[in-house]
Formats: sequence, structure tokens, C-alpha cells
Amino acid sequence: MHLEAVDTVGVVGAGTMGNGIAQVSATAGYDVVMRDVSEDLVSAGFEDIRESLDNLVARGTVTASEAEAAQERITGTTAVEDLADADLVVEAVTEDMDVKRSVFEELDAVCGPEAVLASNTSTLSITTIASATDRPAQVLGLHFMNPVPVMKGVEIVVGEKTNQSTVRLGHEFARDVGKETWEADDKPGFVVNRVLMPWINEGIRAYDEGVADKADIDRGLTLGTNVPMGPLELADHIGLDVVLDASETLYEELGERYKPAYLLKRKVAAGDLGKKSGKGFYEYS
Ligand code: NAD
Repeated sequence: MHLEAVDTVGVVGAGTMGNGIAQVSATAGYDVVMRDVSEDLVSAGFEDIRESLDNLVARGTVTASEAEAAQERITGTTAVEDLADADLVVEAVTEDMDVKRSVFEELDAVCGPEAVLASNTSTLSITTIASATDRPAQVLGLHFMNPVPVMKGVEIVVGEKTNQSTVRLGHEFARDVGKETWEADDKPGFVVNRVLMPWINEGIRAYDEGVADKADIDRGLTLGTNVPMGPLELADHIGLDVVLDASETLYEELGERYKPAYLLKRKVAAGDLGKKSGKGFYEYS
């Protein structure tokens, strides 16, 4: 499929990543159908989009009328059938292979034969997700970064059966919504999370083992290595549950050096998931 043939973008999952992907797609002029499992979650997704666009208007990045037009281009739904007319669907549901495979099976049944299906997975195999469909050549990874409206990069993940026209569409679509791209083979964690997850876990372990106070671990890394956020701050921003899911997949696939930090597991078990729950390593109001 060519980019010119893409009018409607489907987004599955209206959480942190899904609502961001819906927002940038609508801002770029696509009609968007955003699906989650309950009306409340769809509404929460719209609320995040409104807040994000208000911030961009305040900063002068988009005009008030562009923001309004973008919001009007997004339709919310809880019914998978409403994705039937989507030319490209980006899945951004929970990082769980069984959940993702069942979403792709549903999409494969509902969407037209030409539609391209993408996953925003952080670490899971695109090839395994694609095998839940009868169109593995039209399945790829479109790994947007958080927060989607701000972060410039999208990792294009190429599965075993992904064809060249699907890869090209992935690059073209990501660029059309204002992003820059790079390609990664379908290996656990691709480029970004393969390197990032052990870095975050090591920061958590350093804190847990008393190497330094948490703020000093974050300050040490920001001041010492010129990154915008330290590992504990970044983990809160990503969501500790998302970091744990990604770390567990990498540990399972790549072994000991990816073992999740004990304190990460304890925080997730306690429900302290970072910014989204109001508390992670730091507190948020
Ligand atoms: P999230 O928990 O904020 O949102 C996930 C949403 O998916 C929830 O609203 C949930 O109700 C919904 N959902 C679950 N099953 C569904 C289904 N069958 N149909 C429709 N909706 C369903 O999670 P997130 O942080 O947005 O992560 C989504 C994906 O993006 C994951 O694969 C994650 O690994 C990846 N990702 C996350 C980040 C990040 O920083 N948070 C960055 C890059 C990629």
C-alpha cells in the first residue's frame, strides 16, 4: 500500500501511547478511529489529547483552530468493527503477547485485505504477533516514543515476513506525522529498549543498593552523560509496569544481564506505577 491510499488510521488502545498516536495522526490530517475496551478509557484518551493540544497551542506549536480540527477528526469507539475502514491500524494495547495476538486476530478479520497492521510494542516479537493474522507481510512494528507528540523518533521494526512495501509505508507514515525513523530487525527490544532497559534497571539497583540517593542517581546521569532524564525519573515517566513487562521479555529472551531489578517488581506489586498512578520513585500531584 502507498501512503496516498491511507485516509483513515485506526488506533487500538487509548492509553499513554494510543492517544498520542491518535493525536499526531489527526494533527497531520488523517481521520482517526481510536478504540479502547470501555467508554471511560476512550474518554480518558480524549481528555489527554485535549490537554496535550492545549499545551501545544499555549506554546505556539499548533494554532487553536488546528487543534480543534485535529480533535474533530478523531472518533472514539469500543467496537472493533468500527476499525473496518481503517487503511492503517496502530495497536498500542498492554505489553502482553496473548493480548496483542488476540487484537491482531480481530483486526485481521475486520479490516480490508489491503490494510496494514502495526504494533507499537516495546519488546515483543513482530513475527509472532504477525503470525496471528493471515497477512504477515502487511504487519510491522511502528515503535513511537513517549510522549508521542514531543518525541521525534519512530523505530520501524521489520518482522520475518514483513514486505518492503509495508516497511516503506511505515517510514512514510511516520515522517508524514512529523517523525524521523530508523529500522530495526525483529530481535528482542529492537535498538532502543535493548539498550535502555538494562540502563534503567541498573539505576534502580544502584538506588536500592545505596550507591546514592535517588535524586543524585538521576542528577549524576543527567549531568554526567547529557541525557535529559535520569533512570528513575524516566522509569516513572514510562510507567513502571511497562518497564517491568519489557524487562521480563528481554530477560526471558536474552538472559541474565536483563534481569529486572527487585525493587522494580516490588513497586509494581504495590501499585506504584510512576506518573500515571501519582507515585513511583517520586510523587506527582
Ligand atoms: P497503557 O496502559 O497506558 O494503555 C494501554 C491501553 O490499552 C489501556 O487503555 C487498555 O485498556 C487498552 N487495551 C487493552 N486491551 C485492549 C484491547 N483488546 N482493545 C483495545 N484496547 C485495549 O499502556 P501504554 O504505555 O500506552 O503502552 C501501550 C503499548 O505501547 C505497549 O505495548 C508498550 O510496551 C508500548 N510502548 C510504551 C511506551 C511508554 O513509554 N509507555 C513507549 C513505547 C512503547
